[in-house]
Amino acid sequence: MPKIKKKRRVSDKKFWSVNNRGCEGKSRYDTEEAALEHSDRIYEQYGEDMKPYRCKSCGFWHLTSDR
Ligand SMILES: [Zn+2]
Repeated sequence: MPKIKKKRRVSDKKFWSVNNRGCEGKSRYDTEEAALEHSDRIYEQYGEDMKPYRCKSCGFWHLTSDR
């Protein structure tokens, strides 16, 4: 079996970091419902309107303040 070239691993890592941008350190939610529930609390506490979106890289839900 030939060894996997390091070049390929680097490009994989680069792809991951781009795809995974802003994901690390963010709160994850299993369902859209859970994310919506949390966004309600954020709105009550901070007055910020956060919207849930499905993350392509981790498959969980995050909240964003993008309008
Ligand atoms: Zn994510």
